[in-house]
Amino acid sequence: MKVWVDPEKCRGHALCLTYAEDAFEFIDLEDRSVVIEGAVDSVAPDVFRAAANECPERAIIIEED
Ligand code: SF4
Repeated sequence: MKVWVDPEKCRGHALCLTYAEDAFEFIDLEDRSVVIEGAVDSVAPDVFRAAANECPERAIIIEED
């Protein structure tokens, strides 16, 4: 599974951090979110799927294996 945040779509309201604080971190200066390095291996796939479903901008991109 690959997961990333599309920087063109992310609007920085940080809902993803609310749903998956172990999976995403915020880049304050750019006002957007990114996947924490290594989180894809340590966080359950359903956590990413739930965050992707809740992202209002559909900015969380998941590529299933
Ligand atoms: S919820 Fe979506 S748009 Fe908002 S910060 Fe997270 S990835 Fe970006």
